[in-house]
Amino acid sequence: MTSIRLNNVSKSWGSVEALKGISFEVAPGNFTVLLGPSGCGKSTLIRIVAGLETVSGGEIFIGDRNVTACAPAERNISMVFQSYALFPHLNVAENILFGLKVRKATPAKQKEGLDRVATMLGLTPYLARKPSKLSGGQQQRVAMARAIISEAPICLMDEPMSNLDAQLRNEMRMEIQGLQKELGITMLYVTHDQIEAMTMADQIVLLNGGRTEQIGHPTELYGAPCSQFAARFIGTPPMNVFPAGDLTRGALSRSFRPDLVARPDLLMGVRPEDIYLGEDGVEAKLVNVEYLGADKILHCELDGSRILVRTSRETSPSIGSTLRLVWKNEDVHLFSKETQQKIN
Ligand code: ADP
Ligand code: MG
Repeated sequence: MTSIRLNNVSKSWGSVEALKGISFEVAPGNFTVLLGPSGCGKSTLIRIVAGLETVSGGEIFIGDRNVTACAPAERNISMVFQSYALFPHLNVAENILFGLKVRKATPAKQKEGLDRVATMLGLTPYLARKPSKLSGGQQQRVAMARAIISEAPICLMDEPMSNLDAQLRNEMRMEIQGLQKELGITMLYVTHDQIEAMTMADQIVLLNGGRTEQIGHPTELYGAPCSQFAARFIGTPPMNVFPAGDLTRGALSRSFRPDLVARPDLLMGVRPEDIYLGEDGVEAKLVNVEYLGADKILHCELDGSRILVRTSRETSPSIGSTLRLVWKNEDVHLFSKETQQKIN
């Protein structure tokens, strides 16, 4: 097992600054997810770690080795990309073995490796098929098998599941995570999907506009988001964020946090799952109900702000009625209106 460390990595193309001083470490055997909206620099960063892109500044270490100037082949990593890039004219076995053949592994080593990864990924029945005769999920497994058979201590994946349907993605999440732990691979995995990040990561690196917004375990990003961006990017539906204490909201603020009255500089955040319907809460009008099967999302209007409340499927207030919303002080997150950062 080995680590990856990025030290102040930046990347520009002319005037486009894609990465602005990124630093973090992936511990040996850790599953780190690079998460962020489209265009925030995730692919650029993972391609830099792979050696497919040069840096404009900063350094990359794999273990104790500074690999910033090393070619991809010298970095001892395997990769799985969004387009599986399987060779269409080669069958599954040949696709999986391609890298081992290039490296002139012995036939015995090739056979042993192929048997092992094909069994692991349920590909044994398909070894003679061409990729065009496989489903998206099977093609994805072939791409993973090709990465795993290399036995590289580090694996990089860039949105490997974006071509799969939702149900398959759910299954593959657990499969990828299980394999990573079983093989003790150090993983850097890119996604824009916060559910993938939350379910698989030991560590999330949340990127926003080429900078790191927050780094931590999923429970830290969910429970203690450092900014309004982090608060709203993680969690579905996103955290409610509304002006905390401007005077028109006196009633709201007084009910819960007297210290927030007349604080127009603050934004208050409460997750939909932390709001309850009570006898004596803040009055809000129910304007819509989203039925999700296991639960319901109530869309409420409160002093001009839209507040979402996650509630049990048994609750059935009628649209247009007045509800009373309650939440606990410890579930309130405060952000500066000016900087959007968390206030302690
Ligand atoms: P993500 O993978 O998070 O969607 P990318 O890393 O692909 O984001 O892109 C980050 C930014 O860098 C975007 O603004 C993108 O347009 C820009 N970019 C990416 N590759 C190039 C390139 N080869 N030349 C110029 N700009 C690029
Ligand atoms: Mg990308």
